[in-house]
Amino acid sequence: MRAGLKQKETDQSSYEFDPKTNLKLRNWFLKEKRDLAFRKNRTPYSTWVSEIMLQQTRVAAMLPLYEKFMDRFPKPEDLADAEEEEVFRYWQGLGYYSRAKNLLAGVRILVNEFGGKFPRTLDEALSLPGIGPYTARAILSISYNLSFAVLDGNAKRVLSRLVLFKESGPKADPALQRIADLFLNLEFPGDHNEAVMELGARICIPKPLCTECPLQNDCLAYRNGLQESIPEMEKKKKEIPLNIRFYILKTKQGILLVRYPERRFFKTIYSLPFSFEGKHPYDADPVLDWNLKPSDLGIKFKHTITHHKIQGFVSETELDQKSEKNILNHFRKIRPSIEIKYCNWKNLETEFPSSIAKKIKQTFVKDGTVLPGLEN
Ligand code: SF4
Repeated sequence: MRAGLKQKETDQSSYEFDPKTNLKLRNWFLKEKRDLAFRKNRTPYSTWVSEIMLQQTRVAAMLPLYEKFMDRFPKPEDLADAEEEEVFRYWQGLGYYSRAKNLLAGVRILVNEFGGKFPRTLDEALSLPGIGPYTARAILSISYNLSFAVLDGNAKRVLSRLVLFKESGPKADPALQRIADLFLNLEFPGDHNEAVMELGARICIPKPLCTECPLQNDCLAYRNGLQESIPEMEKKKKEIPLNIRFYILKTKQGILLVRYPERRFFKTIYSLPFSFEGKHPYDADPVLDWNLKPSDLGIKFKHTITHHKIQGFVSETELDQKSEKNILNHFRKIRPSIEIKYCNWKNLETEFPSSIAKKIKQTFVKDGTVLPGLEN
């Protein structure tokens, strides 16, 4: 039986790969790779944007948003000049806005301190906000063809199975990175990294399609019939049910939106003020310890943020000038970092760029609820 790799018996983390395994993988990739928009133009900037968008977001959901984003901000300079709120609007649908915030901060540094040219060393790449080891290695290998092996969830699964590496979780990462480095095709590191990830995304999936795999003969997990049990499943984070109430506070200037980083959700974007209700594991937010009695609108909607299963409720009230002033003073006293702005009903979802804003509106329509003062 010809082996795709040899493992030195004395050293668990030392492997030698057969160069033919790499060749088979590359040939498969060149023939089978998906024609994805972000593969058309592989500048460091476009790779950076696509890699950040792909964190936590599926390719199909990310593609249309990526194209719109790149149409509006085709070069790092275009993004660096943009207002954060506009960038957030183009991020709508991707969620996890801290990614957009970090991307913007990083691109501004790139333009102002690196003359708009993405660095070529790992250390400099890692100095940019929002760029961790995976993203740095992906950009440097895919856009500059530099010899850095990437390790994302897909690559980990493929490599673990190829070499029958049984450990999983963060503790296993250094050993897996060594395996990835040894497997790297030094002539075509960018293609190689994309090929490993593509194989993991389409063939070497949790229930692997080994009969379609170009590396079947080289894979130790397959040869030992262990392909479905490697890597060991990590325990899923326990789901937390949460009831959250959003407040529509109407003032003369519009609906009040707030932003402050000390809260649990929406740390980076403006949102309607919200509070947790019923049983929950988090501290109460003292910002909402106000003297108001907003009326419950009797509507609810469902939403998920990471492992939180949210049941959303909505209350509203009108604030006269005096109570608005009191509330704002109270906000600023409790959270000096708080930022305030106003929106109207029409642009709620662009100013509060979360699908929650859309859900609140849709729930109104579905229930036929007429909300006084919010028709426009
Ligand atoms: S043979 Fe199966 S388990 Fe091994 S790399 Fe291919 S798809 Fe994954």
